[in-house]
Amino acid sequence: MKTSAWPPAAPLAARAALSAALAALAGAESPTLTAQALLAHVLGITRSRLLAHPELPVAPDQRAAYEQLVARAALGEPLAYLTGQREFHGLDFLVEPGVLVPRPETELLVDLALARRPGRILDVGTGSGCIAVALAANLPQAVITAVDLSPAALAVARRNARRHGVLGRLTFLESDLLSALPASSLPAPGRPASSFQLIAANLPYVDRGALCDLPVARHEPWLALDGGPGGLALVGRLLRQAGPWLAPGGALLLEIGAGQGPAAQSLAYAAFPAARCQVHPDLAGHDRVLEVALPGPVRPA
Ligand code: GLN
Repeated sequence: MKTSAWPPAAPLAARAALSAALAALAGAESPTLTAQALLAHVLGITRSRLLAHPELPVAPDQRAAYEQLVARAALGEPLAYLTGQREFHGLDFLVEPGVLVPRPETELLVDLALARRPGRILDVGTGSGCIAVALAANLPQAVITAVDLSPAALAVARRNARRHGVLGRLTFLESDLLSALPASSLPAPGRPASSFQLIAANLPYVDRGALCDLPVARHEPWLALDGGPGGLALVGRLLRQAGPWLAPGGALLLEIGAGQGPAAQSLAYAAFPAARCQVHPDLAGHDRVLEVALPGPVRPA
């Protein structure tokens, strides 16, 4: 799609391409960052190299590709889908439209998880795999099972695990919450418990009623956002299923939405009356992570 912001076809310096893109992106979110990131992507260089060399030439085919990406960004398509990547917890993740774009808020969940130094981890609704891969990259002893309902998401997560060299410690499983986990992982008489020290999840938690009006739902998968009526349907289901899979002293860390803290906490106490349940705010001060810590000795990994 052409926009009137572009000068007639001619050899173009990066500087001129950027200012045409800025005009085309007026009204979009973060126009400067978007214009720069997309041009760096098309030229195959970093954003800082682009900024240091505004005289770099943009070839006609690069210019055409750039114009198309800028037009899509102007229509609200997330930058991460246009470039195919997003940084999360210091690592670069492959992202495509079948998975939720990793958010900085979710880094809080990863930090809380790392502080517990768990050895056996389950990541439920792994999506791009950003939580599971960030944990594996920072916990060299950890073994992680990552489940998702979507085979497309699992394929992306597997690629991210390979990209960061942790594929060997991750097991991927197509599963609706915990339903497909092998019962052989459960503790039983005569069999040592191999249950999880941490269950982490960024499940869909947006109130279904509010979803239609949210711009985010126009581009990112409903499957990753729709938390049912009220938003906590899946969080509640996971809390009710999780008990047998958690080791003594283990914990759940679940991402939740702003304002969902009290409701999430009462779901947690209903499922785990003896646990310590805490809601951690994100940097903006919004309820973001529910921590449910089970009593019992914490065994080393
Ligand atoms: N953080 C996302 C949003 O507010 C929601 C992610 C989720 O439902 N897990 O758009």
